[in-house]
Parts: sequence; structure tokens; C-alpha cells
Amino acid sequence: MRGKLTFGLLVGLLSGCQAIPSMQTPRKATVARSTAIISPNPQVRACLADLGSKSAGFTPLPDQYYGAGCSTVGTVKLSVLKSDRAELALAGLGPVTCPLADSLAGWARYGVDRAAQQILGSPLVRIETMGSYSCRNIAGSPRRSAHATGNAIDVSGFVLADGRRITIAGNWADKSPQVQRFFVAIRQSACKRFGTVLTPAYNAAHHDHLHLEMSGRSYCK
Ligand SMILES: [Zn+2]
Repeated sequence: MRGKLTFGLLVGLLSGCQAIPSMQTPRKATVARSTAIISPNPQVRACLADLGSKSAGFTPLPDQYYGAGCSTVGTVKLSVLKSDRAELALAGLGPVTCPLADSLAGWARYGVDRAAQQILGSPLVRIETMGSYSCRNIAGSPRRSAHATGNAIDVSGFVLADGRRITIAGNWADKSPQVQRFFVAIRQSACKRFGTVLTPAYNAAHHDHLHLEMSGRSYCK
């Protein structure tokens, strides 16, 4: 809610400033600050509008370049997502690119929450993560990870309305058929929405999280 207001306010400030030609010096300072936060990139702006229409709570972040192939460009800080009937809390998440936030919003609502309701009998209330932006390489590789540009999220667990907590580390090998069906369903949904999905089945480095990344073409392991 707060993020939506912030976004609306910033867009209002920006469009208002554009509508009124430079009449006063103080307004120029406002334009410069707003432009730094609301990306001039039309694709990012369209994505932010789309994310707002999904009732996600978020704040657009200023573009930053950290050198060595690490940056956060066109990113947002997500504070809350929405399910069919309630708000979904998020834990541990840093800056994420807007398209990734948009895909996460869809996966949380139509993939995870609905699977939780239909298979586990209780709606989702919280998604736990191990973070998003991190200036690092792919493990064991000289290549920069998608995390180095805020283009990947590591999801570690889910909390349901009845208090149950399902984690990747603790429940991926769970013998419960319901829990297994839940993981199959959310994995299938993730593979449709993200370019790259890595699970504990991929390698030992992913034993405790689902790596969700925008880049890649339906690479799903
Ligand atoms: Zn990851």
C-alpha cells in the first residue's frame, strides 16, 4: 500500500513537472530527483505500472552501478504482494528488477497460494527468501550470477495461514504426498514464469532454496 502511494506520488510529481515548463528553479530540483528514481526507460516505466496494477506494494529504487559487472538498474524494493484474498508478506528480499518482481507477484498468487489452498488446505501468508541482489559469481564459475544485477531471487520457504512452515531445506524430501504435490505444482508454475529455475535437484548448492531468474529460456532443473 505504502509502495503504491509512493509510486503514484512520484509519477504524479514527474508528470506534473513535465506538464509545467520550467517556471521556477526549485521545480527543476524536484524533476531531477524524481527522474533518478522513476527510470526514463519506457519498458521499466510500463513494468512499474503493470506491477502497481497487481496491487503489489513496492518502491522504485534509483539506478546504481557498483562496478565489476554489478548493478541495480530498473529495480524495486517489494514490500508486499497480493493473493486472491489477502496480502502476502515477504522476508529477506533486497532490490529486484521490475520484470522479476512482476513474475514473482504472478507466481506467488496463481502458483504458490492456489497450490497451498488446493493441495495443503491453507492459504499462503508469507514467502521467505535468502535474498536477491548480491555482487557475486555463479558458484564455481568465472561468470557473474544473475544476482549481481538483481535479476534472481532465492526462495527458501513458505508460511501458511494455519501456521505451517514449508521450507526447501526441511521439506523438499518430505514423504507427505501433499507436500510433494505442492512442490511439483509450484515448480511447474515457476518454470512457466521464469527463464531459469534451479531446485535442490540441480546441485548441492541449491539444497535449501529455489533459484528464480528472469534470463534463460525455460531452463528448469
Ligand atoms: Zn540464486
